[in-house]
Amino acid sequence: MDIKKERIRINCSHCENKIVLTYHTERCPKCGQPFDPEQVKSLFHNYESQVMNSKFYQAGEKMGKAGNAMAEVGNSMQSCGCTLTLITIFIIIVLALLL
Ligand SMILES: [Zn+2]
Repeated sequence: MDIKKERIRINCSHCENKIVLTYHTERCPKCGQPFDPEQVKSLFHNYESQVMNSKFYQAGEKMGKAGNAMAEVGNSMQSCGCTLTLITIFIIIVLALLL
């Protein structure tokens, strides 16, 4: 997978609006507040390793073409759970920086 083409839905840590984060996102499109590029990258790196380690993804890889559809489903299911985890991680990071 190319994480530079992936998107993660998060709530902006500044304005709480739902936004789509890309690997190259530098600021919130809604409120214009800047994000720490290192944090954005690490979010994507975590996302990648979670997807790569998901059972759905690995099963899909092994089953070849027929498995690709399964992997797709697995990835989208994974990304739902992932996004929640990432939002939590993101909030923790932001809180840690604020405190
Ligand atoms: Zn914002």
